[in-house]
Amino acid sequence: MILEMNNICKDYIQGKMVIPVLKNICFTMEEGEYVAVMGPSGSGKTTLMNLVGCLDQPTSGTLILDGQDISKCTENEMSDLRLNKIGFVFQNFQLLPRQTALENVELPLTYANVPKKERRERALQALDRVGLSDRVNFIPNQLSGGQKQRVAIARAMVNRPKILLADEPTGALDSTSGEQVMELFQSLNDEGVSILMITHDADIASCAQRKVIIRDGVLKKEEGIQ
Ligand code: ADP
Ligand code: MG
Repeated sequence: MILEMNNICKDYIQGKMVIPVLKNICFTMEEGEYVAVMGPSGSGKTTLMNLVGCLDQPTSGTLILDGQDISKCTENEMSDLRLNKIGFVFQNFQLLPRQTALENVELPLTYANVPKKERRERALQALDRVGLSDRVNFIPNQLSGGQKQRVAIARAMVNRPKILLADEPTGALDSTSGEQVMELFQSLNDEGVSILMITHDADIASCAQRKVIIRDGVLKKEEGIQ
């Protein structure tokens, strides 16, 4: 099991108000699974992703990622998990604007103290894998949306994480670039990388093996399937 969520609740505190956002979520993913999370805006998708991505902790419940209980982790342990086990892809790419594609992809390796020569080799390999060998010295501004997202995927994969988390990865892309991103996800999944992908595009969701729906903080299996 790569992910096990038991009765996860997440509340936000706003002034004196407690806002319950995730409500008793129970959800598991086998290693190598590819799951799409669908749901309307404001339903709690990003909040859920932040928990799985060890960016935030649940208010209650247990979340076990690759055998490790997140609810008991310190900040440092959480950041180690993010660095070593998780790759992130966001709707708006989140690349460093003044760094080249190569430097952006090298960054996680720098954090992981990989020596410079190996860093460069692995980043170049990752960029080659996403078809950007001819763009390694371009900065994000000089790349199309689809190319930026492919740099972000190279960066997400360069540390060889076990799970890829994607929050609306095609939300800012035209359909052709979106399809390229889906092809890359498929080939990563074929190699055994687990993928949890948020989307509100039904065509994109159908690339996954399985869909779940979140509505008002409650997670359900895809309608029509028991
Ligand atoms: P989605 O990604 O599905 O659009 P989010 O997880 O971003 O939804 O947000 C779910 C709900 O939680 C929304 O009502 C939002 O206003 C609220 N929310 C998100 N982040 C915070 C926060 N940091 N503080 C308070 N409320 C938040
Ligand atoms: Mg969101």
